[in-house]
Amino acid sequence: MTYQIDENGFYGQFGGAFIPDSLCPAIKELTEKYLHIIESEEFKQEYHQLLRDYVGRPSPLYYASRLSEKYGCKLYLKREDLNHTGAHKINNALGQILLAKKMGKKQIIAETGAGQHGVATATACALMNMPCTIYQGALDVQRQRVNVERMKMLGATVVPVTRGSQTLKDATDEAFQAWCSNSEETFYIIGSTVGPHPYPDMVARLQSVISEEIKWQLEEKIGRDYPDYLIACVGGGSNAAGTIYHYIDDERVNIILGEAGGLGIDSGKTAASMQIGTIGVLHGSRIKLMQTKEGEIIEPYSISAGLDYPGTGPIHCNLHEKGRAQVFAANDDEALKAAFELTRMEGIIPALESAHALALLPKVKDQFTKDTVVVLTVSGRGDKDLNTYLQYHEEHPEAAF
Ligand SMILES: *Cc1c(COP(=O)(O)O)cnc(C)c1O
Repeated sequence: MTYQIDENGFYGQFGGAFIPDSLCPAIKELTEKYLHIIESEEFKQEYHQLLRDYVGRPSPLYYASRLSEKYGCKLYLKREDLNHTGAHKINNALGQILLAKKMGKKQIIAETGAGQHGVATATACALMNMPCTIYQGALDVQRQRVNVERMKMLGATVVPVTRGSQTLKDATDEAFQAWCSNSEETFYIIGSTVGPHPYPDMVARLQSVISEEIKWQLEEKIGRDYPDYLIACVGGGSNAAGTIYHYIDDERVNIILGEAGGLGIDSGKTAASMQIGTIGVLHGSRIKLMQTKEGEIIEPYSISAGLDYPGTGPIHCNLHEKGRAQVFAANDDEALKAAFELTRMEGIIPALESAHALALLPKVKDQFTKDTVVVLTVSGRGDKDLNTYLQYHEEHPEAAF
């Protein structure tokens, strides 16, 4: 049994590239070239040097003693929040821009929802002196002013997309169109393990530095290179894919994924697409997605802007379907509570997205004994979420201690 990608770009029944070559020759070119380039010694050397000197890797693996005691296990936090730009997304953006350069591309485009991937891409473009255009739903441009200003400061052009619901899905549609109509010159940097093959595999490989480091860091700390449990939050799936990459076929390691429950998975206001979604094609990939019987996308909802993609990448849909991963939803209020808990018990303010992984600890602690080794990825830092946290604290002083 393997959970790796097959030769056609599928994970079980999920994935693939449902975009005809005739419409988008760029996909064919990328599929032919990406593996050869990112597996080459030259690429690896440049990439790992950037990860070390620019991003600040390796990110620490931190033993959280107070939380360990509370949840009756040995809990280690993988600190992606300490990366330059504050999250794991920079690992992927730097890798793809290096690939773009090696493919001779002259400009970069990307989609963004909340703006985190837009900022990571604009950062990589500034570093590499590449023109950068970011497509963002017009509604998100209004809602995410600070990130829009960051992208502009970094020299990117932000294009507000006014069609449809004016959010992430529409921005992605627009970016695809722009890419496919000028693929000679343009490279499209997708921010998560979504989209047509080869994106999910490429993004997972570029994020796999996370589990590569977990292996030797665990070996150093506990004398064996695997944990009993891995826990991560899932939007499109990239920080989770990076966290599990080197353990995906190692059945000694349990995988726990947290998707955004929103107001509750049965409330109609949720982003828990693996649990309530049905199979369909979105952005060229067969995945579980939130849609009506007629195939209209249902707008996802989560308090966390980084988790409200209407689907989940094919890697995770397959792990869920095959029972390799346990999938839980963390609701808004559970994530908020978990964010305060980490802040007050370990002095780490997590991103709201990452708080959805932390919020699973009370749900799964019955599976642990005091010697169970758990690695949980803190995908990003919470500076961007302070307003939300402070408002919650004002409204629920009792919940947040
Ligand atoms: C974007 C983002 C996520 C969700 O994206 P994945 O591709 O599922 O990792 C999670 N955490 C943070 C901090 C993010 O910025």
